[in-house]
Amino acid sequence: MGRVLIVGAGGVAQVVAHKCAQIPEIFDNILLASRTKSKCDRIAARLPRPIDTAQLDADDVAQTVALIRQFKPDLVLNVALPYQDLSLMDACLETGVHYLDTANYEPPSEAKFEYKWQWAYRERFASRGIMALLGSGFDPGVTNVFCAHAQKHHFDQIRTLDIIDCNAGDHGQAFATNFNPEINIREITQRGRYWEHGEWLETDPLAWSMIYDFPEGIGPKKCYLLYHEELESLVQNLKGLKRARFWMTFSEQYLTYLRVLENVGMTRIDPISVKGCEIAPIELLKAVLPDPGSLGPLTKGRTCIGCVLRGTKDGQEKGLYVYNICDHAAAFREVGSQAISYTTGVPAMIGAMMMLTGTWMRPGVHNMETFDPDPFMAALSRYGLPWTEMAV
Ligand code: NDP
Repeated sequence: MGRVLIVGAGGVAQVVAHKCAQIPEIFDNILLASRTKSKCDRIAARLPRPIDTAQLDADDVAQTVALIRQFKPDLVLNVALPYQDLSLMDACLETGVHYLDTANYEPPSEAKFEYKWQWAYRERFASRGIMALLGSGFDPGVTNVFCAHAQKHHFDQIRTLDIIDCNAGDHGQAFATNFNPEINIREITQRGRYWEHGEWLETDPLAWSMIYDFPEGIGPKKCYLLYHEELESLVQNLKGLKRARFWMTFSEQYLTYLRVLENVGMTRIDPISVKGCEIAPIELLKAVLPDPGSLGPLTKGRTCIGCVLRGTKDGQEKGLYVYNICDHAAAFREVGSQAISYTTGVPAMIGAMMMLTGTWMRPGVHNMETFDPDPFMAALSRYGLPWTEMAV
């Protein structure tokens, strides 16, 4: 049915490649391309059927355009880094190919992510007749779809939203991040931000916390308020929302290491000169930390990511918790990556499936919650991320 060019060969790409390869009736031709071709070949060697691989520097629009013209994909599925979003969108515009990613654009020189750069492509994508689906991972991604599902089936009006991301897994390392360390550390060392009564309010980084009692035996964990990108589109698309916040769990040990690294300057993103070499300390840190891909066989335990929504239905107050629990070891057994990559890669594949089958197809640049959540929610349960909902 469709030809897909997957860009990137990290933990998430490994899951996307596996999942697409498992569904030949939708993804009949797959090309996996990334900066380091040997990583693509390594992933390809473990798949249930042959796929093509290629070397690609996705920062170079002309190179991507040439590869697209050669392979002729229907869709470019970007699971490289947020830095490549705009150059890949430019290549899609030039060649008339649909686009999907899992994280919004972030300029390399500034730890700041916002949709404004990608939303600026709306008219050009619409008039070219192609679609971009933004943030089709778990958070952003499934969390946006959970909100659309709650809005469609459970509420007349949603008043408050708390997205809560819990990783109750353990990889046994002193300090390691579960996805790209540079992107991860840039995200969590920013000032906290949440939305209330129509305005954005800020907190110091990781200054606010709460204890949340997670279901199915995971139990109480400390969660910290962070700014997270899906809040930006959700506060626009969930009409009548009064407050929206995002929380993530961290262990005391993780935060202690992070504080030390910050205090000694190792999380700085501005380049410094060492023996004549210009390097940003955070890039050096990434190079010495464990590769998130290597944590797969070591990680045990589960993730639990979901949305707590409160509002009204038929004049009655109502609270709802929609969540998914994913087991690190089970994910590793299936696709060779832990649950953080799995929970991102499966929704990326499902987003691509929604587009290629025409289930979600609307030229322009769109966030997930603007589409009918029902087919996506059904696909989550079918392809490895079953969800549960309960009154709270
Ligand atoms: P990794 O760092 O493991 O992989 C990134 C891959 O992109 C690497 O293979 C890297 O190449 C490749 N790459 C980097 N620059 C270029 C370039 N210029 N051209 C071509 N390829 C390039 O990251 P993850 O797999 O953990 O994450 C992938 C994406 O998923 C990120 O954008 C991340 O933010 C997002 N994400 C989204 C989540 C969500 O829930 N929405 C959750 C987790 C992650 P090389 O191997 O040579 O370094």
